[in-house]
Amino acid sequence: MKDCIFCKIVRNEIPSYTVYEDDIVKAFLDISQGTPGHTLVIPKKHIANIFDYDEELASEVFARIPKIARAVKASNPDIKGMNILNNNGQVAYQSVFHSHFHLIPRYTNNDDFKMIFKDNSKKYSPDQLKAIQESIEKHIGD
Ligand code: AMP
Ligand code: ZN
Repeated sequence: MKDCIFCKIVRNEIPSYTVYEDDIVKAFLDISQGTPGHTLVIPKKHIANIFDYDEELASEVFARIPKIARAVKASNPDIKGMNILNNNGQVAYQSVFHSHFHLIPRYTNNDDFKMIFKDNSKKYSPDQLKAIQESIEKHIGD
C-alpha cells in the first residue's frame, strides 16, 4: 500500500534495523524500544489486522515467530522472558494499520513494560459465561 509506513519499510523506502526477512515476513526493531530488543514482525503483504488473515498467511507468518523470538532472546543473556503482543484496532492501541506482532523482551518484573487487565472473574455468573461462550462459538469459521 502506497502510503503505509510499514509497506515503505518492506520496500526499503524508509530505513529500519532489520533483524530477519524472507519472502513472507520482515522483522525489525521497534523504534520505541519499549525494552531493549523490542522487535516487530510483520507480513510483507499489507493487511490491516488479525481479522484479515486467511489460514495460509496466518500459518506462514505465525510459523516464523518462534525462531525470531528465540533469536531475540539469544541476543542478550539478561532477557528472561518475552511478551508477544498484537494490537488490532484503535480501541486496542493499534496505531499502525499494517498488521504486526510486538516481541517485547522481559528483563525483570519491574522493567519498562507493563500489562494491566482487571480480574473480573467474580463479575460474571456461569449463565453469563455460557452465553458469551455460545455467541463466540457460533461464529467460528465466519
Ligand atoms: P501499535 O501501536 O501496536 O500499532 O504499534 C506500532 C509500533 O510501530 C509502535 O510501537 C511504534 O514505535 C512503531 N513504529 C512506528 N514507526 C516505526 C518505524 N519507522 N520504525 C520502527 N518502528 C516504528
Ligand atoms: Zn502496509
